[in-house]
Parts: sequence; C-alpha cells; structure tokens
Amino acid sequence: MTEEILGNIHSLESCGTVDGPGIRFVVFLQGCPLRCKYCHNPDTWTTNLNKKISVKEILEKYEGVKEFVKNGGITVTGGEPLMQIDFVIELFKQAKERNIHTALDTSGILFNRNNTTKIDELLKYTDLVLLDIKHIDNEEHKKLTGLSNTNILDFAKYLSEINKPVWIRHVVVPQITYNEKWLSELGKFLATLKNIKALDVLPYHDMAIPKYENLNIEYPLIGIPPLTKEEAIKARNIILVSYKKNQP
Ligand code: SF4
Repeated sequence: MTEEILGNIHSLESCGTVDGPGIRFVVFLQGCPLRCKYCHNPDTWTTNLNKKISVKEILEKYEGVKEFVKNGGITVTGGEPLMQIDFVIELFKQAKERNIHTALDTSGILFNRNNTTKIDELLKYTDLVLLDIKHIDNEEHKKLTGLSNTNILDFAKYLSEINKPVWIRHVVVPQITYNEKWLSELGKFLATLKNIKALDVLPYHDMAIPKYENLNIEYPLIGIPPLTKEEAIKARNIILVSYKKNQP
C-alpha cells in the first residue's frame, strides 16, 4: 500500500476572494525559497512548521463550505506550492474528480524545463495558474527576492506554449517596481504570451509589519509608503499600453 501524502500547511481560508475567480477555498502551504522584500506571509517561509493535513481532510472541509464557494473552487497558494508538488498533484487530481475548479498560485521559481514530468502532471489537473511575476529585470529581481527570475519567465513561456490559462499577478512597490521602464518591459514581455486571461496589479501595502515584528525579522521596506489606488491604476495602464503596443 502506498503511503498517504500529507501537506505541510500554514492555514486554510474558507471564503477567499482575492485568489482566483469567485469565492474560493484557499490552502496556504508552508515553505518558500524566495524572500520577497514585500512578502506579507513571512510565516510561510520555513518548511519545519508541522501542521500536516491529508487531501481527504481538505476535501472534507471544502465540502463543508461548498455552498459558499460553488462559483469559485480551490486555490493552492503559500509560500510556494511547488515545494510540495506531490501533495498538490494529489489534491488537484481528487478535486477534478469532484469537478472542482482548481487554481495554482505560484511564482514558478522551481520550474525546470529539462524535467517537466511532475509539473505536467500537476497542470493536467490545474484549471488556472495565478503566476506571480515579481520583477521583469533579472538583477532587480535578485535584489527584490534573492533569486533570479530566469525560471519564472521560462515558466510563463512554457504555460503559453501549452496554452494553459494564466492570470498574471504583479505587486507594484513605490521606488522598486513602480517605475515606467520596468512596467513597460513587463507589458512587452506579456505581449509575447498568448494565454493571459487577466492581469492583477496588486498595490504594495505594509500591513505585514507586525508579523515581521512577531517573528523577529527586520522589515526590509521600512520607509516605503503603500502604493495608492491612483498609482495602481497608473501602473496597470502603463503595463497595458505596452502590452497592446507590442502585440505581434
Ligand atoms: S513568493 Fe510569496 S510567499 Fe514567497 S517570499 Fe515571495 S511573496 Fe512571500
């Protein structure tokens, strides 16, 4: 008998409204290799918080709130869900057997084009990918997250090649990504993809500061103000103008 795969989770949210279409049951998985300076979930970074849960338990909890989330589905986020890909495969496989809409919120940082067996298996059961592009410029990406964006952009191209529906998510931070050059370059890159269904421009906020204090981690963006609504609209427009201008 094969051993049951358990997920190492941070938390569950039964009525999420910001992680995909409709009202959704959201699974926050533990563990992330990135260290985004604006991260509002630093408590998901480590992998050794052992709150384990089975696929069966998650689906039972989903069934309990099904009436509220029937126009939505299940979203797996984190942390970085691809760190527990075997668990997510099993969860999405069983969710699809019940005809539940599945969304994967990932940065794609662990994508490797030379070994796509597992990700292909996961994508078979994934209706929508919420792809977080942190910074379009590689050097700036390293400064912002600690790692290169090569895998992330390659994952975006791969999803386009296989025509998997994608929502692009981009956090706009004053002094970092709120910059005409970078936003235009992002739009230009997105214009090369043929599978984008939506663009979520997420304005930076600093509401996670108390979490950093509790965890005794220095908050990296002290002094950077939240992005205003007007700035977020402007940022979105810059991306979209460039996107349209660069359409093939
Ligand atoms: S990928 Fe998400 S969870 Fe990981 S550091 Fe960045 S914002 Fe935080």
